[in-house]
Amino acid sequence: MDPLVDPFGRSIRYLRVSVTDRCDFRCVYCMSEDMTFLPKNEILTLEELDRLCSAFVRHGVEKLRITGGEPLVRRNIMSFFEAMGRHLRSGALRELTLTTNGSQLERFAADLARVGVRRVNVSLDTLDEDRFRKLTRWGRLPQVLRGIEAAHAAGLRVKINAVALKGDTEEEMFDLVQWCAKEGHDLTFIEVMPMGDIGNEMRLDQFWSLRDLRARLAERYTLTDVTERTGGPARYVRLEETGQKIGFITPLSHNFCESCNRVRLTCTGQLHTCLGQEGASDLRASLRASTMDDAVLDDAIRAAIRLKPKGHDFDYSRGEAGVVGGRISRHMSHTGG
Ligand code: SF4
Repeated sequence: MDPLVDPFGRSIRYLRVSVTDRCDFRCVYCMSEDMTFLPKNEILTLEELDRLCSAFVRHGVEKLRITGGEPLVRRNIMSFFEAMGRHLRSGALRELTLTTNGSQLERFAADLARVGVRRVNVSLDTLDEDRFRKLTRWGRLPQVLRGIEAAHAAGLRVKINAVALKGDTEEEMFDLVQWCAKEGHDLTFIEVMPMGDIGNEMRLDQFWSLRDLRARLAERYTLTDVTERTGGPARYVRLEETGQKIGFITPLSHNFCESCNRVRLTCTGQLHTCLGQEGASDLRASLRASTMDDAVLDDAIRAAIRLKPKGHDFDYSRGEAGVVGGRISRHMSHTGG
């Protein structure tokens, strides 16, 4: 089957799939505490997710990242991972991975490794128990640390994703860097994004630019830019003193759009071809319109990719993101960040 190529010549090789909008945490920058979740019938079933992801794999997607909400709280989620494992075994898929808050990893790490997952991104902003409780509201740090240990023990490579937060990350950045060096985990810092209605929390108050974070890091370490790019938004530096590679994801810059090979699928089957644009294509309708035949679905996927825009348009400097909720109305927990 023809690979998916967008109007700007970019081959689509990476699909990020949110399998649920639910989560067992209520991180202050992501959800309000009394979050209302989507009705069940709007969420794709695991069978529908299998069919849809398999269609993308047929079209040349080589890398699948499973996200949420928290993907591992979805009932029977391992059957979906097992189903995707068949594409790894056939060689069609090069990588199956997930982003998780780590709360369920202790239970699932060994099974994930068994079906062929090799790497896992764990969202962890702090190593301080009180601060962890404050930031996640419902999360408990020891449970997550046990999950990370289980992942490590199962042979999974762990990358820690830490959101850069004014005050909190400023105080703790060096502890996180040292802990990751000691444990052998990769580390990426992420700038907060102007997305979704999250209640009373103010995004701009929480915003700490990665330029400032990087300058602080350079006070203690010698930073060397790593030139290799992954097609994704991260830029990397190496800390010469420890040999660690640290990633930076700055969604506000446009520096990765030209090489962007990725699209995102929400748990309701909406395909977003650009994180920074509102538009989406409804693949659930095509999926449910033709349960026996994939031709309609294949056409819908190709049509959606033709709509992938050249780039995105975040800009705090216009002041619009100061309005609570920001400019992009869909939720991080639906799209998986
Ligand atoms: S940021 Fe992740 S862990 Fe926190 S509430 Fe949102 S989906 Fe859950």
